[in-house]
Amino acid sequence: MNTENYKALINEIQAGGARLVAISKTQPVEKIAELYQQGQRLFGENKVQELVAKHKALPKDIEWHLVGHLQTNKVKQVTPFVHLIHSVDSLKLLAEINKQALAAGRTVNCLLQVHIAAEETKFGLSDNELHDLLRSAEFAAMKNVCICGLMGMATNTGNVAQVEKEFEHLHLLFAEVKKEFFAAQSCFAELSMGMSGDYKLALKHGATLIRVGSLIFGERI
Ligand SMILES: *Cc1c(COP(=O)(O)O)cnc(C)c1O
Repeated sequence: MNTENYKALINEIQAGGARLVAISKTQPVEKIAELYQQGQRLFGENKVQELVAKHKALPKDIEWHLVGHLQTNKVKQVTPFVHLIHSVDSLKLLAEINKQALAAGRTVNCLLQVHIAAEETKFGLSDNELHDLLRSAEFAAMKNVCICGLMGMATNTGNVAQVEKEFEHLHLLFAEVKKEFFAAQSCFAELSMGMSGDYKLALKHGATLIRVGSLIFGERI
């Protein structure tokens, strides 16, 4: 993506009240450094190994976001530096993040991933599981995680009405959960939704973090 197109994308996202997380998975560090030179600081990866390697190789003022499914046995590798984990989809995973964050002497920011798509292959909590997690005594006792909001992935379809319905559902759920569980906590403020194919719709429905990869870097190989 050239500078002009990148600036136009940033302006569009900012005008919509959101920020861009540039999804750099599979891209070499040189490509990431180029975008960094243009001012981009929020980058996202979906694999732990790649995230760790790129964090090591690139400037330390980058905010690294983990957007892909996270296995409990890999949590320890990211807790020392990750800025936001978008993909927390179980109490067990959250408990491990809390434990490793304590060991690393920090609080780790997390989003709870909600299953909003029609496809069964996508990860995420159901609405009921989300409520159960937030009501649990185990969650109430966690001191080293901060729940900053919700994340979701819409169905991969050209059916605009369906995608809008899914984003709107997540938007309403976000408002409900904020009111019921986080009314006094200003950090519960992020709604991560929208990718290259559907970010305009996500902006329309209240997204605050947009995760765009291929539109910026070109198709992944
Ligand atoms: C790859 C990925 C993206 C970005 O997808 P594009 O279609 O390339 O913009 C966003 N979110 C998650 C969770 C991803 O894995």
